[in-house]
Amino acid sequence: MILHIDMDAFFASIEQAINPRLKGKPLIVGSRGNKTRTVVCAASYEAKRLGIHSGMPSKDAFDICPDLEFVVASQAKYIWTSEQIFELLKGYGFILNYASVDEFQIDILEHPEPLKLAERIRKQIYANFNITASVGIAKNWLLAKLASKINKPNGVTLINDNNFKEILSLTPLNKACGMNGKNGQALMAQGLKTCWDLYLSLPEFFDTNPGKFKEADEPEKPKSISHSYTLPSSSENPQFITAWIRLLSEMVGERLRQQNLVARTVHLWLNNPQTGDFLGQKTFSIATNDSYEIYLRTLKIMARIPKDCHKIRAIGITASGLAQQSYLLLLPEEKRREALVRAMDKINSRFGDSSIIPAQVILTRK
Ligand SMILES: [Mg+2]
Repeated sequence: MILHIDMDAFFASIEQAINPRLKGKPLIVGSRGNKTRTVVCAASYEAKRLGIHSGMPSKDAFDICPDLEFVVASQAKYIWTSEQIFELLKGYGFILNYASVDEFQIDILEHPEPLKLAERIRKQIYANFNITASVGIAKNWLLAKLASKINKPNGVTLINDNNFKEILSLTPLNKACGMNGKNGQALMAQGLKTCWDLYLSLPEFFDTNPGKFKEADEPEKPKSISHSYTLPSSSENPQFITAWIRLLSEMVGERLRQQNLVARTVHLWLNNPQTGDFLGQKTFSIATNDSYEIYLRTLKIMARIPKDCHKIRAIGITASGLAQQSYLLLLPEEKRREALVRAMDKINSRFGDSSIIPAQVILTRK
């Protein structure tokens, strides 16, 4: 059996848990600080009831409800909470997977009392974090995820052989995982309306994963990833040096992405022929594998370099504090950027490593 745990209005609930003034109020979490020019990345249930939903321009949300409470997304807080929930769930001893930052899957094997277990987990999450979760229980992860949506928020649903037909008949087809986009629309155009219709015409859809999901496989991961370069001669030209830092950041980021890793710590090594080595490092709360972000982080370390160290002969960038990239990106801007970066990686792997590079890097070729 699989338990699918889905936190209710996760970001908004965390904000309400932290700030009691926001409890019970319609609230949106925006991805940027300008409250009328951002995108809703989470809405509290009070806001959802008014028809406000994530992905909506915040301006439209304020048109619906001018008194809406507004908070800027604070990723570090959400990731921290998510990791704490993950740790709590780990304590139950079953195989556990991240499905997304606010969704967790547990393979509870042949547990005799899945409903009681689900209740215990929900109570413990509420006691520790003051936020609610909905849980779905079923024979495979796809049905368990579907089940978790049925009694949302703050509910539990078990799908078994007895209620399988009834629940699927009552659930619109686009509620099934992977059916809320074009696939679902195409099938609905063919006259399929509910998940039961889908089951009748494509039974294997609900059965392709008969019980088990892949355990979060942890292949031997490297401790760190670095790239360095020795310049043909020492340079004091800041644009030239930062162009190299940019290029090395690109290379480090690409290697991280190839291995599906993210890094929290960035190290910068600069060699000055007279004064020797400058070594700096900084650990950030949010792990990344975005090359541009690695570059910006490196510049923060660079700002600490003593003035007399600016003649540079060799440069190295290392990413450490590595972890598997286990959850999806949170904010719409990040998702767009991730798609762009992945597309660039694809082009570079197909047409050669420097087919697309940031313009700044061209300076390294001079
Ligand atoms: Mg959720």
